[in-house]
Amino acid sequence: MSYTKNLIADVISKTTGETEFHQAMTEVFSALAPVVDSNSRYQEAGILPKMAIPERSIVFRVPWIDDKNQVQVNTAYRVQFSSAIGPYKGGIRFHPSVNLSILKFLGFEQTFKNGLTGLPIGGGKGGADFDPKGKTDAEVMRFCQSLMTELYKYLGPDEDVPAGDIGVGAREVGYMYGQYKRITGRYESILTGKGLTYGGSLGRTEATGYGLLYLMDNILKGVSNGLDGKKASISGSGNVAIFAAEKTYQLGGIPITMSDSGGFVHDPDGIDLAAMKEIKFVQRGRISEYTKHRPNAKYTEGKGMWNVPCDIALPCATQNELHEADAKALTANGCIAVGEGANMPCTAEAVEVFQSNNVIFAPGKAANAGGVAVSGLEMTQNSMRLHWTFEEVDQKLQSIMAGIYEKMSTAAAEYNMAGNFVAGANIAGFKKVAEAMLAQGAV
Ligand code: NDP
Repeated sequence: MSYTKNLIADVISKTTGETEFHQAMTEVFSALAPVVDSNSRYQEAGILPKMAIPERSIVFRVPWIDDKNQVQVNTAYRVQFSSAIGPYKGGIRFHPSVNLSILKFLGFEQTFKNGLTGLPIGGGKGGADFDPKGKTDAEVMRFCQSLMTELYKYLGPDEDVPAGDIGVGAREVGYMYGQYKRITGRYESILTGKGLTYGGSLGRTEATGYGLLYLMDNILKGVSNGLDGKKASISGSGNVAIFAAEKTYQLGGIPITMSDSGGFVHDPDGIDLAAMKEIKFVQRGRISEYTKHRPNAKYTEGKGMWNVPCDIALPCATQNELHEADAKALTANGCIAVGEGANMPCTAEAVEVFQSNNVIFAPGKAANAGGVAVSGLEMTQNSMRLHWTFEEVDQKLQSIMAGIYEKMSTAAAEYNMAGNFVAGANIAGFKKVAEAMLAQGAV
């Protein structure tokens, strides 16, 4: 067996049950085989085995009191994966499905993603199995305060700087930030995605969705007339999905579907974004309500969204939401490109279908890196005690996404895999982190 195959088997045998982590690690290490095989320094210094284990994982309980005065308790985690190129950086997720395997896969991916941005940020991820859905603002606040009462010990502007993710938006970041400040008395940049009144960056809310479309536009310009006139199928209706839809319109495309965990809407005339924002951001409602605003749109409960014919597919909800059968349906219906707005939304089998049918495939660690990139820019502004305009931030985001396109294309071509952005993104992200580990004296 080759070095990487052996290593993958070894890591899997030592991390029983961590299926999402196995999936992400297997993809990355398989893509790195030609790099580590041709460079003995990486093997001698044990770079890959070290990358497979977080520098530190913190697991803690979060007790809180609901509105009926009942004590509730959740489990929370912070996985500090790699500080090779900067302080740990990666979001906090609140969702009932959260467990150590999911956060390890996310922290692992984040390490390479952050390397691709070119910014000095390491990799981490955190979260809790808390479901903010159906909770009052007061309950969410008490939960966030209790979580930060433990988590604050491990954060710092030069140590670990989390952001939002699924279930964690401006409201939750605000409550966590307030509690950190209350405990420590320090007004410092320990979270990004903050509100604009207390240190947030313009353009952070939009960054992941916008960045995804900037990358897809860069890629598609190489093969056709960019996004112009393209119909885009987008899953999810949260932060990433909504701003992906907004930028799709701005670049000349038409978003025709969106979803949530209940079902999906298909609006052949193009999604009405004002209605979608009202339902999701203001009312915190369900996507089924969309047809009240748009009688021509159709709501379908459950899955099946990827059967709707489209030119490009942008999965922006969650991991493993797009399966092999979905990939086959998209391919058969003429889809030419897929960009992962979410983290690992396509299963390994689905990716294989796209790649073997020459459907352009942009993996999440490149395609959704715009969010963490602008989080990095938020940290920079906080350090400088300055506030850039939206245009300045957006300009920097565009150039970071163009840089990512360049880096992953060049890395893939260097190893004779031109156009394979999975390999390219993994190799380029890896090299940045691995070289830093070597330089710092690999022990
Ligand atoms: P939000 O919580 O704002 O939105 C998540 C969306 O996905 C909602 O529409 C939600 O529906 C849906 N969803 C979540 N879980 C499931 C599930 N198990 N099945 C079906 N639908 C689901 O999260 P974000 O938009 O911030 O994040 C979406 C993805 O993008 C995640 O993979 C995240 O890791 C990734 N990402 C986010 C970044 C950011 O800046 N926010 C940065 C980079 C990546 P419902 O409301 O019904 O649960």
